[in-house]
Amino acid sequence: MYNVKSNVATEFISDEEILSTLEFAQKNKNNKKLINEILEKAKDCKGLSHKEAAVLLECDLEDETQKMYKLAKEIKQRFYGNRIVMFAPLYLSNYCVNGCTYCPYHHKNKHIRRKKLTQEEIKNEVIALQDLGHKRLALETGEDPVNNPIEYVLESIKTIYSIKHKNGAIRRVNVNIAATTVENYAKLKEAGIGTYILFQETYNKKAYEELHPTGPKHDYAYHTEAMDRAMDGGIDDVGMGVLFGLNLYKYDFVGLLMHAEHLEAAKGVGPHTISVPRIRPADDINPDEFTNAISDEIFQKIVAILRITVPYTGLIISTRESQKTREKVLELGVSQISGASCTSVGGYSEKEKEEDNSAQFDVNDDRTLDEIVNWLLEMGHIPSFCTACYREGRTGDRFMTLVKAGQIANCCQPNALMTLKEYLEDYASEDTKKKGEEVIRNEIPNIPNEKVRKVVLEHLEDLNEGKRDFRF
Ligand code: SF4
Ligand code: SF4
Repeated sequence: MYNVKSNVATEFISDEEILSTLEFAQKNKNNKKLINEILEKAKDCKGLSHKEAAVLLECDLEDETQKMYKLAKEIKQRFYGNRIVMFAPLYLSNYCVNGCTYCPYHHKNKHIRRKKLTQEEIKNEVIALQDLGHKRLALETGEDPVNNPIEYVLESIKTIYSIKHKNGAIRRVNVNIAATTVENYAKLKEAGIGTYILFQETYNKKAYEELHPTGPKHDYAYHTEAMDRAMDGGIDDVGMGVLFGLNLYKYDFVGLLMHAEHLEAAKGVGPHTISVPRIRPADDINPDEFTNAISDEIFQKIVAILRITVPYTGLIISTRESQKTREKVLELGVSQISGASCTSVGGYSEKEKEEDNSAQFDVNDDRTLDEIVNWLLEMGHIPSFCTACYREGRTGDRFMTLVKAGQIANCCQPNALMTLKEYLEDYASEDTKKKGEEVIRNEIPNIPNEKVRKVVLEHLEDLNEGKRDFRF
């Protein structure tokens, strides 16, 4: 029985509800009247239900799709302005006891080199990341209670925050580790993490169990209820996602939105971010086995409809996607991207030898961070290294209240300009610096509040003089 507030996975992600939603969407395929009513409602920026979103996803009329794209862009602009937040993943360990069929870290894979970074190696990785200009990381580890216990993750977070190399600093550590207990989530909160990220991979229970044949991750309920436990442990910001291409995408799309609705209804705060990874080639994984892979067109539609449906949630895209795809979806509401990512363990400080092969997936966008910053500037976005909200205590419902009131852009824009300036001073090439300075000059008059504008101008001067780390 579907119950959005239930704490039982199969009740808040009810298979019956998903199937009836898909049937409703199918019955209303290309129903222009209904689609236009939904789009009108979406213009209020208060979001849509999973049922309404499913109707939009089912639609394949070109003119209606273009309307969705236009609205998605407007909503992104209204809530977050033209800033794009930058981050990088940091792989700590690829030891894993699970048997996920789509991931090369699955425990039966014998030709991948297993690695776990020591604290000294983490230090080297963090210095390498700081030297690129990164301020925000997403920590990744496999699930292995012996090799990667929670104590190891906590110690690593401490190490990461402690390193200050030249003008560098990691100011926000998001954590993507396996589903765990309320006690462990409380420890992560205590360690000062930003967002707790956990992808559901697929919401279809049967498919989930087949894709995770062995290991603790096999337990669908424990995995699906993890966000509830994270919030019970005091973590305010959680990041969700499904791995598109594993199962039928429409089913997962509806499940994802029902999960978001559940968190909002049961915990009072929806997801802080949603990621939209698509399955990629990797060692010991045959992408041909995953025949549900989605086309670029459908992928773009998913991004745009998510933007319309959950306007308050950040949308993340990784280097799994090519430059071309990233360019497209940046126009459809993506608000955060990774750059210069290394998906192997220890790969930032030392280039991995071919035979070592510890990567989780092949990246599709292997440009340097400077090239990505340059490209974003050319497209009219402001690359942002901002980490201000969590450091200012703007998390959970405090953050959501500001976003819903349309006020967060008043913080995002000045913070983007100041952190971009930091990047330009410390890490950028000549060409990027020139473009960035120009963007900053052009953007200053767009800061609506005179007082804020004045403070930003002062801090830009401070940054010129070598001072660092300003924020609103
Ligand atoms: Fe392990 Fe995660 Fe890979 Fe599964 S997806 S094998 S849990 S690292
Ligand atoms: Fe993100 Fe907050 Fe910074 Fe905006 S001000 S970019 S929401 S951390």
